[in-house]
Amino acid sequence: MTRMESAAALPRDPMARIARSRHEFGEHGGVNLSIETSATFTVLEAGKMPEMFEGRDGPRGGCFLYGRHFNPTVMVLARHLAALEAMPSAYCTASGMAAISGVLLNACNSGEHIVAGQALYGGTWALLHDFLPRKAAIETSFVDLADLDAVRRAFRAKTRVLYCETMSNPTLQVADLPALAAIAHEHDAQLIVDNTFAPVIVTPALHGADVVVHSLTKFINGASDIVAGCVCAQGSTIDGLYDLHLGSLMLLGPAMDPRAAYEVATRMPSLGMRMREHSTRALAYAQCLEALRAKVMYPGLRSHPDHARFRELCNEGYGAGGLLTLDLGTAARAFRFMEHLQNVEDFGYMAVSLGFSDTLMSASASSTSSELDAAALEAAGISPGLVRLSVGYTGALEDRIAQLERGYHAALAA
Ligand code: PLP
Repeated sequence: MTRMESAAALPRDPMARIARSRHEFGEHGGVNLSIETSATFTVLEAGKMPEMFEGRDGPRGGCFLYGRHFNPTVMVLARHLAALEAMPSAYCTASGMAAISGVLLNACNSGEHIVAGQALYGGTWALLHDFLPRKAAIETSFVDLADLDAVRRAFRAKTRVLYCETMSNPTLQVADLPALAAIAHEHDAQLIVDNTFAPVIVTPALHGADVVVHSLTKFINGASDIVAGCVCAQGSTIDGLYDLHLGSLMLLGPAMDPRAAYEVATRMPSLGMRMREHSTRALAYAQCLEALRAKVMYPGLRSHPDHARFRELCNEGYGAGGLLTLDLGTAARAFRFMEHLQNVEDFGYMAVSLGFSDTLMSASASSTSSELDAAALEAAGISPGLVRLSVGYTGALEDRIAQLERGYHAALAA
């Protein structure tokens, strides 16, 4: 949990906001922050403890109680993340799914309703489609977010949330955030945006989002060695997440480890540079595949149906992100493409996840979108031959382009 300056006073550039939020030293004046490993914290006077339990004192007054609630190192990372997303407050979690499930469980009570995009990360889709209705009687209507009338029609009296991804996983549809925010607000609902694919590149809060969630496991940490997440929002939303009686994160308990918070915090200053390089490479790969007349999707290409919208939403100077998709039509071709690129060319790895220094490739329909049933896969436009590439920045670009071309030809041969 952390508080930021008012949005109007903040620099427009996300990395400048992060730089402004970094004002802590290590315990002995070190240039890196210290890791506070303690799970519990002592007090000098016995009366302080009841004061903290009653909410009359707490981390804002420098008083800590217990690590599932607040930890000073985790709070430093939360401050950087709030700055990244131009939100007043943020809270860190043990995974991206913990952030998503926590924020949805606090936004909706049993019997209430969510409207969500039909193309979403498979875990989120399963949470909305299977878990929340069964376990909490919270129903979701899935819609094509490009059809704003359909979005409006999906609202019910009990709709509390409109949920989307800035760029959908894996189809890279770019959400019309201002229009979606307007529809949500007309219905007294919140727009909750998963910005995992586009940190630094798009700042959803500047386009009307009420809550922004991230899987920090991906670009923000960037090393594929930590699973973590966060929620960025107004202070009152964040306060609700750690309420002693009804706070989903407080009571379900997916707290971030302070050692993980330290690692992620030390990698945040390079996030802008990394995103720029991911984007430069992804654009070059997308242009190469387009020149080969491949079915490639990348928001930075003029041929992308949402290219103009992306240009309106994006922050200048960071490109269009590190993800692209290539639809090879059949699973067999998709597998040949990935096997050739990994096992013959050393181009990248067949692995799920994204945001790593090396390129990661997966066939979404049979991996990270396999939770979607056949009808949902078709509606979302995820064919068995669709390969998602999370473009890394290792190796010489010219060599990588040559490898990619050979991989494409190998996929089509036979
Ligand atoms: N959101 C998106 C867009 C994702 O791609 C993922 C994971 O792939 C998640 C959320 C879940 O994040 P985590 O694995 O950190 O729980």
